Amino acid sequence: MYLKNLCKSLISEWILRNPSRAILKLIREIKGILGLQEFLDTRERAMPTYRIGGIAVEFPYNAYDCQLVYMERVISALQQGSNALLESPTGTGKTLCLLCATLAWRESLAPSPSLQSGSQQPTQLSARAGSSRTDFNKPDSDPTDESLQRLPTIVYASRTHSQLQQVIRELKATIYRPKMVVLGSREQMCIHSDVQSMRGRVQNHACRSLTKGRNCHHYNRVADYVKGHPELGKEPIDIEDLVNIGRSEGPCPYFLSRELHNTADILFVPYNYLIEKENRRSLTGISWSRTVLIFDEAHNLEGICADAASFDLPAAHLTACIGEAKQCVDLASARKATDNGADTSLDPDNFAVLKGLMVG
Ligand code: SF4
Repeated sequence: MYLKNLCKSLISEWILRNPSRAILKLIREIKGILGLQEFLDTRERAMPTYRIGGIAVEFPYNAYDCQLVYMERVISALQQGSNALLESPTGTGKTLCLLCATLAWRESLAPSPSLQSGSQQPTQLSARAGSSRTDFNKPDSDPTDESLQRLPTIVYASRTHSQLQQVIRELKATIYRPKMVVLGSREQMCIHSDVQSMRGRVQNHACRSLTKGRNCHHYNRVADYVKGHPELGKEPIDIEDLVNIGRSEGPCPYFLSRELHNTADILFVPYNYLIEKENRRSLTGISWSRTVLIFDEAHNLEGICADAASFDLPAAHLTACIGEAKQCVDLASARKATDNGADTSLDPDNFAVLKGLMVG
């Protein structure tokens, strides 16, 4: 009886909260032996599978109707390779729906062992050239390109890291275990004793000059660590976990996440990784034409794009510009008077409008 109760609490508290397919399969095999049939059947009923758009979506709880509709829309957009703008009230489990629907769809694209041995289903995935839509289901024209043979990558973007932490917690509650990584800045991840307290460009510059000469011992340990830990990222990990690995075992967490992004199935990134060109270019491991982009809380996106494209114009520069625009108005008016308006490219009215905009 004691053993049975111990098994029940282990299964409830740990395994079903951190489910992996292999462990769940094992439990299902042995439940009869342990006499836990009824107990497990009850728990498993709490993790139902829904068939949505022809795809089996495993959901950690009994889904509400609105969640089923939401997942149906997500899957429909993915199957059509189209954009979707989805809205649902706060507290309706959007994040969980997004994760489960997208990961279930992605898994459905994987060739099953029987299909690999010669059935009619495609084993390659690709973006259709010349099409505004991405067809992940069509055979690829160049099967030699290894990156195109991978399943689509999912990039999940959110505004802040605390929001991403919440998303990663939701991922832990699902049965899905894609290889994942969360990207952050050096400010969040550097563990070098002299560089970690620096900020912004100064820190980036210090890191670059150290790594260029291989003078950061944390950086130098990344390649070996990744090679020796191929399982890294198969269980959900957060920035704090990467920093803890760096502190206890040595590799630089920042470059560890950079290395992992090359092979990750799902990346969690703050918006600025996608919006700022430099950051986006640094994600060299991603085939963008075959990537599913998810913008969580996308109502923030407009303001963030505006911020990214904005800069400060000091009052002194503005005053100088107004002065130069006035000079242009005067010069263009003088030219117009001497050549009777033959040169239409120097219309004083245009310069007056420009000046008005800066004044106004
Ligand atoms: S390589 Fe990593 S630990 Fe070293 S300075 Fe750069 S960010 Fe910091």
